[in-house]
Amino acid sequence: MIPRPREIQNLGGKMLLPKRLDAVCPEAMPSLAAYIQRFNEGYQRIVDGSTELMQGESISIKLNLMPRIAASHKDMHMIMIDEGGITVAAKSENGFRYALTTITQLCKIAVNTGKDHLETARIIDYPAYDYRGLHLDVSRHFFGVETVKRYLDYMDKAKLNHLHWHLSDDQGWRIKSHKFLLLHEVGAYRNQADGTRYGGYYSHDEIRQVLDYAEMLGIEVIPEIDLPGHTLAILAAYPELACFPCEFEVETRWGIFDDILCVGKPETIDFLRELLDELCELFPGKYFHIGGDEAPKTRWKECELCTAMLDKHELSDYEALQGWFTNEMVKILREKGKEVLAWDEVLDSPVDSSIIALAWRGDAKDSAKLANKNGNRYVLCPNSITYLDWSAGEGEPGRKEISTLENVYNIDPQSYEGAHLCLGLQANLWTEHITDEERLFTMLHPRAMALAERAWNPEPDYDGFLKRLKLLGDIR
Ligand SMILES: [Zn+2]
Repeated sequence: MIPRPREIQNLGGKMLLPKRLDAVCPEAMPSLAAYIQRFNEGYQRIVDGSTELMQGESISIKLNLMPRIAASHKDMHMIMIDEGGITVAAKSENGFRYALTTITQLCKIAVNTGKDHLETARIIDYPAYDYRGLHLDVSRHFFGVETVKRYLDYMDKAKLNHLHWHLSDDQGWRIKSHKFLLLHEVGAYRNQADGTRYGGYYSHDEIRQVLDYAEMLGIEVIPEIDLPGHTLAILAAYPELACFPCEFEVETRWGIFDDILCVGKPETIDFLRELLDELCELFPGKYFHIGGDEAPKTRWKECELCTAMLDKHELSDYEALQGWFTNEMVKILREKGKEVLAWDEVLDSPVDSSIIALAWRGDAKDSAKLANKNGNRYVLCPNSITYLDWSAGEGEPGRKEISTLENVYNIDPQSYEGAHLCLGLQANLWTEHITDEERLFTMLHPRAMALAERAWNPEPDYDGFLKRLKLLGDIR
């Protein structure tokens, strides 16, 4: 199984697999009903074609709420498989979800290896980290709701529980705005060199479909609006928000660009306050990601208004001006009850210690050090390890840089400074060079499984991981 459970006690018997295996929703958790129905249907798909192997018509899985195990991790769960059937005990909804995912994997492995039974066993399990994330860039290439749902399905199979949804960048704005119509009318499309128009955006209804689906799976969705850099799609729609307004275009090249939001203009902050109002209503979850990466200060240094803002707040330099801007965004979002995440560049100037930093630069050792010094919690997503747009090996698709399956597996959060501030791990999937769904899942699997295992189980077992991966088959 992946991620590898903490504790498996083999009891030496067999539970013959039935034609139907139905979990029964605990009365106290009616919101689990859709997930349970999905599990029951999933079992039907696993045994479909092998039903001649199956013994007996039907077995019910009992799900028992167990506050008694409350003393340990909130998502702890226990699975008892005996000759007569399966019982699960957990105290949280996700505890039950993870248990059912484990049972699905056990059944899949049994069928894949031609067995008609599960070994009887007692499994006790819980995650090492509460933040087990996967990132998806839908700006460089746009992926519709069905692809995002499939991405969430994959996360469910790996017990990953935070989707970091990168919804804006230089190459496209991806949300319909009812307040600022040009954001999606202009900012969602780019004119490519070959004369075609590329782009798209999600309606509010489509966003809600994704959020509802993620909620059913117990996955937290973190929207990211990248500020103040990576904003050419916003500036193409509203050029007056730049230091030096001109006819900006939604960018077709990849990279880092000098034109970013002018933070010396009060209009910029007013615009963002209004926009965040709309977005926070659309995304009612507890997290919001404000970007903060790769913001060159070229324009700010030339801009009278940015320079005046720097002087007004007696800031030491233009990096500190970004720190001031970051803190302004944090103020707005905290009033709305949000926890704010940002890329680790925000730690380069004094910022609010409540910000959760996504430590991505290089091996992220320096970023963890900075976070530790300032007291910021952080999530590890070092680009030399967990960037899944990097090729997985010589001759494999992806960027020229390589991060192999083993390299991802070998990430060791305990080796970072301020390990007590580390909330977990995340793999990032940037899509400059990923144009379709098939490539997306090729880059994702199986390296995301390696990350998922290391975020779950602190004891590494790479050889075992490879064997279990093979047994599980292609779960994309
Ligand atoms: Zn400016």
